[in-house]
Amino acid sequence: MDLSCWGRYPRVETTPLAFESEESLREILVRHRDLIPHGNGRSYGDSALSRRIVPMRPHDTILEFDKENGLLHVQAGVLLAEILETIVPRGWFFRVTPGTRLITVGGAIASDVHGKNHHVAGCFSDWVKDFRIMLADGRVVTCSKSAAPELFKATCGGQGLTGIILSARIFLQRILSTSLDQTTIKTRNLEETFDAFEQYRDAPYSVAWIDCQTRGKAMGRSLLMLGDFRKDGNLRYRNPPRRNLPFDLPGPLLNRWTVKAFNNLYFARAGERVSRRRVDIDTFFYPLDAIGHWNRLYGRKGFLQYQFILPRAHSYDGLAHIMRAIATSGKGSFLAVLKLYGPANQNWLSFPMEGYSLALDFKIDRDIFSLLNKLDSLVVRYGGRIYLAKDARVSREIFETGYPDIDTFRTFRKDNGLEQVFQSLQSQRVGI
Ligand SMILES: Cc1cc2nc3c(=O)[nH]c(=O)nc-3n(C[C@H](O)[C@H](O)[C@H](O)COP(=O)(O)OP(=O)(O)OC[C@H]3O[C@@H](n4cnc5c(N)ncnc54)[C@H](O)[C@@H]3O)c2cc1C
Repeated sequence: MDLSCWGRYPRVETTPLAFESEESLREILVRHRDLIPHGNGRSYGDSALSRRIVPMRPHDTILEFDKENGLLHVQAGVLLAEILETIVPRGWFFRVTPGTRLITVGGAIASDVHGKNHHVAGCFSDWVKDFRIMLADGRVVTCSKSAAPELFKATCGGQGLTGIILSARIFLQRILSTSLDQTTIKTRNLEETFDAFEQYRDAPYSVAWIDCQTRGKAMGRSLLMLGDFRKDGNLRYRNPPRRNLPFDLPGPLLNRWTVKAFNNLYFARAGERVSRRRVDIDTFFYPLDAIGHWNRLYGRKGFLQYQFILPRAHSYDGLAHIMRAIATSGKGSFLAVLKLYGPANQNWLSFPMEGYSLALDFKIDRDIFSLLNKLDSLVVRYGGRIYLAKDARVSREIFETGYPDIDTFRTFRKDNGLEQVFQSLQSQRVGI
């Protein structure tokens, strides 16, 4: 079977090893090597790709929901979208959710995903009570921050390289409405963008769409969106219908000029400096999910998402430098996403650190790899790192510089006999 993830690059020939019971999964793990669990394939690059995959989507049961205390017990293959239909009408929401609801709980733990509230709520794993995981020798361990703490630190953010997460218990957050008050602040340059983020650093949710194509005085102009749940008692909720992009867009349609024209229009439309409106959960948290298969926008060859984070002290200078390099290249997607982060957690390969991250897409063409190599060296020069969940090409050296706990992670894998069994294209490339 031919498989790729969300960026449609790379593609691999893989054999799915499906299982029905823990017993049959145990047999698979004892018999095979070079395999990786596969959730919903919403990572962009090659972290969920290998010669063999273990498909987790069939294991999608909601096992228990304590509506009084907001504690949810699910199998690891359930999608956040499926959970929302159960919890939102009863007044609960995720403590942390990424920008798509089309990922599994196993994928959320393995990438230790973050959302628009990292500065106040941390990562997904910070709200995981515990999970059950099957290791390479078939043992099932219940793991939490206090029971098997090393396994917890290795697995959350560990990109599927420590075992197969079978189920998890997660803490939820009370909500009193399915709507949010959204305030949009239009900034004229990078300095104003940073000032606005810092001014609203206690906002429950914040995220900026930032223009990475404009140089000069308007470089870094943004629309910073702040969100806060309303309290109007309306809890009616259903996953909204999606419109699919029905075909691959021809590659040449996306170029320096069309991207620039789109950005100009987008900023002009935003109107006044500060505007307010009421939005629903899906519009605020999952705007990209409204169009199914939007990854076809980049044409048949696919695209790379590039997400890096820089420590707070170097965020401004580093971003200015990197954005100048992107604007000069004339490459990159329409709008990029800038987010603010609070302190890092203890997990060995979690991406967030206190500072700012930028994420944007690059259509695959012949110059893109050399441009991204250049950006990588700027990222490490400013003390930052690249997000593995988005990556399909980073070198071992750049990866290692950004993740100081990598040797602890490697030793843990070796000592627990995990390294031969769990392998992805990414782990082989970066030498985990
Ligand atoms: C539109 C879009 C927006 C996004 N926004 C964000 C964001 O805001 N913040 C953020 O942090 N991420 C974001 N992501 C990335 C995404 O949340 C992660 O890549 C997530 O891990 C994907 O989960 P998945 O179920 O699709 O897993 P896959 O892509 O299939 O796998 C991802 C990793 O999880 C491992 N894995 C999957 N299931 C299991 C399991 N049961 N046991 C052990 N390991 C497992 C895989 O081996 C792999 O390493 C976004 C992705 C998209 C497409």
